[in-house]
Amino acid sequence: METINRKELKELQLKLAKRQLKHAYENAPYYHDRFKKAGIKPDDIKDWNDWEKKVPITLKNDLRDYREKTNDPFYGVLALPWEKVRDIYISTGTTGRSTYWAFSKEDWKWIYELTLRTVWSMYQLRPGDMFLGNAGRFHGGFEVMRGPDSLMDIGITVLWNDVLPLPMFMDKMIQYCQDFKGKIKAIYFPAFLSWAFMGYMNSKGLDPIEDLGFNNMIGGWAGGALTTATRDMLKDVFGFKAILNMSCLGDTMVPLIGCLDGQGLRTHVWEDIHLVEHVDMKTGEPIEPDEVGDWVITPLHNHAVPHIRWRMEDYTKMDFETCDCGTTHLSITILGRESDRITIKDKIILPQMVEEVLYKIPEIGPGGAMACQVVKTAPEKQDNLIIRTGYIQDKVKDQVAFKEKVRAKVQESLAVPVSDVELLTPEEVAQAGSVGWKIARIQKRY
Ligand SMILES: [Zn+2]
Repeated sequence: METINRKELKELQLKLAKRQLKHAYENAPYYHDRFKKAGIKPDDIKDWNDWEKKVPITLKNDLRDYREKTNDPFYGVLALPWEKVRDIYISTGTTGRSTYWAFSKEDWKWIYELTLRTVWSMYQLRPGDMFLGNAGRFHGGFEVMRGPDSLMDIGITVLWNDVLPLPMFMDKMIQYCQDFKGKIKAIYFPAFLSWAFMGYMNSKGLDPIEDLGFNNMIGGWAGGALTTATRDMLKDVFGFKAILNMSCLGDTMVPLIGCLDGQGLRTHVWEDIHLVEHVDMKTGEPIEPDEVGDWVITPLHNHAVPHIRWRMEDYTKMDFETCDCGTTHLSITILGRESDRITIKDKIILPQMVEEVLYKIPEIGPGGAMACQVVKTAPEKQDNLIIRTGYIQDKVKDQVAFKEKVRAKVQESLAVPVSDVELLTPEEVAQAGSVGWKIARIQKRY
C-alpha cells in the first residue's frame, strides 16, 4: 500500500469515498441535512468530477452553526449508536470550543494500521527499539496515533510517561533517559513539552546530549508548525538525528507524518486512509500542487465520525512525486493557519514567514525566532507589520540600532512595510512556550 501506483490509489479512494459519503448521508444528521440542501444523494456521485463539483465542502463554522441550532455536542457528525462507540477524546480546542472525537472498534483497527506503518516506514523503528511516549489524553498526537498496544505488534517497547510539563514528569523522563541511554530510538516531544524540558534541564545543569544520551534520537513533534527555526534549535540543543512531524490535526484527525529519508522536511499523509484534495482558498476548485491553497480532508475509514470534504483552513502546497523513502503517497507543506494570517495592504503574511527571516539573524537565532509573534492591529487589513521577537541579550549592545537592523531585514525580505520591532525579554520568551498547548503567533491589538 505504501508504494501503490497512483492510478490504483485513485480508484481505491473513489470507492472508499463513495462508501463514506453514503455512511455520512444515512447516519450523520449534519451531513444528511447538508447533502439534502445541496440536492445530492450518494448515488449521484459516480466519479471524481461529480465529487469535486457536487459534494459540498464543510468548514468549522458550518458545524458551529449546526451546534447552535441543535445543541448537539457532536455537531451532528456522530454516525453510530452509543453501544458502538468505544471511546471519546476531546480536542485541544486551539481555535475555540473543544470538539469530540469518537471511535468505534473498527476505527481503532485503522489507527493501528496507520501507526504501525508510520513508525516502521517513516521513523524506521525496528523490533527491539524503544520509544519514549510522552502521551496524554488531552491531545490527539501520539496518543491516538499509536493505538493502544499496536507498537507491541512489531516488537517496539514503549516507555510511558505523562506529557504534562510538571517537575514530577520531567524527573521521570530524565530517569528513563539515563537508565536506557543509547537504547531509546525515538521520543514523542510536543512543542510545549520540549520547551519546558529545555528550561528544566537548564535549571538542573544537565546537558541533554552528554547526560541523557539524546544524541541521534528521532524527535516526534506536535503542537505547532515544524518550522526551520524550530527544527534547527531542537537539533542543536538535543542533538536529534531528525525532528519529524507526529501530530494529528483537527476534527478529521489527519496525521502528519514526517519522513526520516526526507530529513523531516517532507511530511506524508497516507492517502488510502485520508483522501486529500488541494483547493483554491476562495473558490474550493482544485489547483496545481505547487500553488498555495487549502487542503480538504475526507477520512476514508472513519466509522464513528465520518467527515466528508472538511476544509482544514491552512495555507498549503502539495507534492505528488515519489519520495526517497519509496512511498507514492503525497508530501504536504503547511505554510500556516488561515486564522494566523495578517494582510498588509494586499499581501498575506504568515507568522512562519517572519520566523524564517528572523532565525537567520545571528542575534536572534532559532531560540529567539521560535517565540516570535506578529501584531494584528485591525480585523481585516493593516498598513504595517509589527513584529515581536526574542533575541540573545549578550549579542546586542545597542538595542535601538539592533531593532532597526531587524526591521529593515524583515521589510526587505517580505516586501511589506515594517513599522516596529518589539524585543521580548527572556521571561516573555520562556512564557511563550509554557502557556497552553501551542505558542500564540498572533497578538491582537484592536
Ligand atoms: Zn518519504
